[in-house]
Amino acid sequence: MSDSPILLWFRNDLRLRDNDALSEAVRTGRPLIPCFIWSPEDEEDWRPGEASNAWLHHSLGCLAESLAERGLRLILRQGPAEAELGRLIAETGATAVFWNRRYEPAIIARDSTIKQSLGESGLEARSWNSSLLIEPTSLLNKSGRPFQVFTPFWKACLKRGFASPTSLPGGTLRGPNTQPASLNLERLELLPSLDWGKTVVSGWKIGETAARNRLRSFARQASRDYQRDRDIPSVDGTSALSPHLHFGEIGPREIAAAIRAAAPDSRGAQVYLSEIGWREFAHSLLFHFPHTTTEPLKADFERFPWEPDETLLRRWQRGETGYPIVDAGMRQLWQTGWMHNRVRMIVASFLVKHLLQPWQRGAEWFWDTLFDADLASNTLGWQWTAGCGADAAPYFRVFNPTTQGEKFDPVGNYVRRWVPELKAMPDKFIHQPWAAPGDLRRASADYPAPLVDHKQARARALLAYDRMRL
Ligand code: FAD
Repeated sequence: MSDSPILLWFRNDLRLRDNDALSEAVRTGRPLIPCFIWSPEDEEDWRPGEASNAWLHHSLGCLAESLAERGLRLILRQGPAEAELGRLIAETGATAVFWNRRYEPAIIARDSTIKQSLGESGLEARSWNSSLLIEPTSLLNKSGRPFQVFTPFWKACLKRGFASPTSLPGGTLRGPNTQPASLNLERLELLPSLDWGKTVVSGWKIGETAARNRLRSFARQASRDYQRDRDIPSVDGTSALSPHLHFGEIGPREIAAAIRAAAPDSRGAQVYLSEIGWREFAHSLLFHFPHTTTEPLKADFERFPWEPDETLLRRWQRGETGYPIVDAGMRQLWQTGWMHNRVRMIVASFLVKHLLQPWQRGAEWFWDTLFDADLASNTLGWQWTAGCGADAAPYFRVFNPTTQGEKFDPVGNYVRRWVPELKAMPDKFIHQPWAAPGDLRRASADYPAPLVDHKQARARALLAYDRMRL
């Protein structure tokens, strides 16, 4: 049997637990060379954004430490993955490359090429699924087509059942006799040059241990309060596991097992798991409809009469629309690299329907500023809100940002936290400061007037929708 090293190629699976490629590699008893190759060019149009890069920097640091504790050194390289893998193979005499699969279109194409060329060179190239409960390739509806509606999709997933998390034996892991060269983490230049990146990241605990701690504390809460709190942006009512999930610091199998163990029959746990289900649905859609990262799933929307306007887009990005719940959300995003799901829906709807800006522009801004920026979930979220995606909110249902604010942030705690100009505004006017009496308006004079009038904007959006359907 071969005793040559295995290259363990880490990607968005930056953890040791529940990592199939790692546990299978360990099972062979052969020396392991863990590596990470920074190759943003391989992602084509979707190179990771500034926020993602900052998270990745810290996450790689955590992974390197965990591997070091088990006796392994994380080798860092930079450049197109195929070429770098070739170099590592030549330098180390490795005869196998193991990895966990990713499902973005450009990465699927790249990985297939790599698998084929490694195979043709007589090397072993093996991959596993460690990031989804159910792989998109394995689940179709009764007509043999991809699901486009969430509820039957999720029912089919639940019926299929999920694998349990995989385990890793304890103790030191076997490394190679000689280590190949590695870049220093700093050489990858992942940290943003702007101070913004440093400040934003400081509010988060990053890495596998942090993800597991967060899951542990959240699992207890999920059963009790998730259903009630998940729509209230001023409370810490959701798991905030999304960036950890995106970078694979934790996997969905481990989350599902922990939630079910903490609260086997609770409604909160079921609702929470169905949110994980939306992530699965997003990956399934991206896999089957790869063009939807830039094009609407519902082809009618290619004719939608958008009115692109850089000034309006900029005001939205900066949280200066004059609608407090929208501005609070956009500022939360800028200051923390994350935004509450309810508010994501409100701000996205506002951009697309009130301002008639193409959803793709919003998706790009989220891509650059979210720590959890994820091609599958971001594409689904934007297409869903714009009404052009699978199981989407109907276009003609236009969120009213004032009533949404009053419903989900009734006493304005969320708005006051992110929009300090409105700190002194009484609850009654917190979601419509323009209607406050003159002295109160003067006290918040730094806050902008609404960019558009809701009624007029709604009528204009519906007219645009009708024009598209002519
Ligand atoms: P929880 O409520 O604790 O949910 C647990 C997990 O379920 C999340 O971490 C996430 O992985 C998954 N999840 C929950 N809701 C959704 C959903 N609607 N779609 C897909 N997965 C979901 N999520 C991303 O991870 N990355 C994105 O780039 C992204 N962009 C979005 C853009 C828009 C316009 C919208 C409306 C939603 C977007 N979402 C995205 C989905 C959702 O807002 C986030 O997953 C969620 O807010 C993350 O917070 P949480 O971990 O506390 O969620």
